[in-house]
Amino acid sequence: MDLSITGRGSPLTSPEQARISVVVPMFNEAAVLPEFHRRLRAALSAWGARLEVLYVDDGSSDDSAQLIRALRQTDPSVALLCLSRNFGKEIALTAGLQAATGDAVIVIDADLQDPPELIPAMLEQWQLGADMVLMRRRERAGESWFKRYSAHLFYRLLNRLGEIDIPEDVGDFRLMSRRVVDALNSMDERQRYMKGLFAWVGFPQVTLMYDRRARAAGEASQNYRRLWSLAGEGITSFSVKPLRLASVMGAVAAALALLTTVVYLFKTLVFGDPVQGFPTLIVSILFLGGLQLLSIGLLGEYLGRIFMEAKRRPLFLQQEYLPATLNAGMNASLSAALPHAKSHA
Ligand code: UDP
Ligand code: MG
Repeated sequence: MDLSITGRGSPLTSPEQARISVVVPMFNEAAVLPEFHRRLRAALSAWGARLEVLYVDDGSSDDSAQLIRALRQTDPSVALLCLSRNFGKEIALTAGLQAATGDAVIVIDADLQDPPELIPAMLEQWQLGADMVLMRRRERAGESWFKRYSAHLFYRLLNRLGEIDIPEDVGDFRLMSRRVVDALNSMDERQRYMKGLFAWVGFPQVTLMYDRRARAAGEASQNYRRLWSLAGEGITSFSVKPLRLASVMGAVAAALALLTTVVYLFKTLVFGDPVQGFPTLIVSILFLGGLQLLSIGLLGEYLGRIFMEAKRRPLFLQQEYLPATLNAGMNASLSAALPHAKSHA
């Protein structure tokens, strides 16, 4: 393998020097964290000293962060980034990607819905040259029929409206090369619909299939309301086609009006029918009023997006950052030269 092209811009890093980061957004996951970390470390034991496990505490109110601090005492690969409050998973992910230092970055949920045991297979694809390894779920265990079906409809709508194709049944569980992560970090927008941003980047991709489990413990915090607003965000931050809807509806309404004019003229002139006043009036007023409000609402959605972008607030605030003690700040060759560190005290 050509060592001269390692680092930025190439996924091909020599296997002895490559470092990997695992980014884990967590929000009140104390119930599963110890088990999660145990399984993750077991799956990645081969990576020893070149591993960074970055937990992003998204303002948990339980003792998730405390647990990670304790883990850090015994496992030098553990890093912790605490946000100042709960910002939501998309922002937690953004923060994690900015802080991750590895040549490849894996994003995984803490609730064990994404099996850590699959990571070695993802790394293999990366070393074969893939910039992005997507994990596509074969089965969505523990999710209601309604959630599955609405998700399906949402992807169809999004891909029809948007210019980029967002793959269906692919979550945030994925591997990204350094250049993909750099590209994501360079995107400065406030409204972060991560699935859309991931898809926007491009680069060679590989998709692996897996079975998504039900949560190991705890409760899903992404409720329907949140998913719904995420869906709206997905559409309005990646497509302006809904704006065109207003003009289309206007044209259709005008055409209908013309048609009814002709029909009534004809009826009055030829048959001498008296025109029914009230029903036609009320129907057309309500119809047009509805269309107008809908169009204003759509405009408002986009205006709101512009407003949020224009404020240019920071995406998140960092409360505390504890880097991995083993390889933080070292260059790759230095950490590779270290004897294999013990990961258990
Ligand atoms: N999560 C987070 N911030 C939040 C909500 C969730 O960091 O505000 C994390 C959570 O701890 C988990 C992942 O995001 O690791 C997925 O969350 P969840 O299981 O609630 O969502 P779902 O599996 O339904 O996508
Ligand atoms: Mg989950």
